[in-house]
Amino acid sequence: MSSSAVFLDRDDTLIRDRGYLSDPGGIEFLPGAPEAVRLLNEAGVPAILVTNQSGIARGLLDEARLSAIHERLRELLAERGARLDAVYFCPHHPEGAVPELSISCACRKPAPGLLLQAAKDFGLDLPSCFMIGDKIEDVQTIRGVGGTGVLIDTGKPVGPDVKPDFVARDLTGAVQWVLSAMKK
Ligand SMILES: [Mg+2]
Ligand SMILES: [Zn+2]
Repeated sequence: MSSSAVFLDRDDTLIRDRGYLSDPGGIEFLPGAPEAVRLLNEAGVPAILVTNQSGIARGLLDEARLSAIHERLRELLAERGARLDAVYFCPHHPEGAVPELSISCACRKPAPGLLLQAAKDFGLDLPSCFMIGDKIEDVQTIRGVGGTGVLIDTGKPVGPDVKPDFVARDLTGAVQWVLSAMKK
């Protein structure tokens, strides 16, 4: 397997952000998103989902429910010929309601913990990896390990502290840019 990968945020990058989605039936792809994942699959580039799910620390859903959501997500992608190579999530939040998860952890983006774990599992060279997300924290996460960050422009204000390597209209535009950048 290639030593570079593309990390994908979930909410408002791949699927619509429902605010602590807890029902697999509520999954709604953003337009073109499954096809964009398929482009990565066809290029032989690992597509790895990396998502903060503080709803678990907040007691709004549990890990079993999150697994059911991600299982359904994989089924819906498979129907469109697309596949995620792995899914990593952070269940924590410093101000949660579930005591053991209400911590300041090393894996909530923009902390690099999830990427470090993926790098270990897949033998990735993080500086040659990319991350695509709708928040500047997604860009910060990959920048923190020396990689390249693509922001999907959803009109959310981004502070001046981190400048994305590229700003895309949607996941399709982001993946196209990443694939051309990888060839260089
Ligand atoms: Mg997001
Ligand atoms: Zn965490």
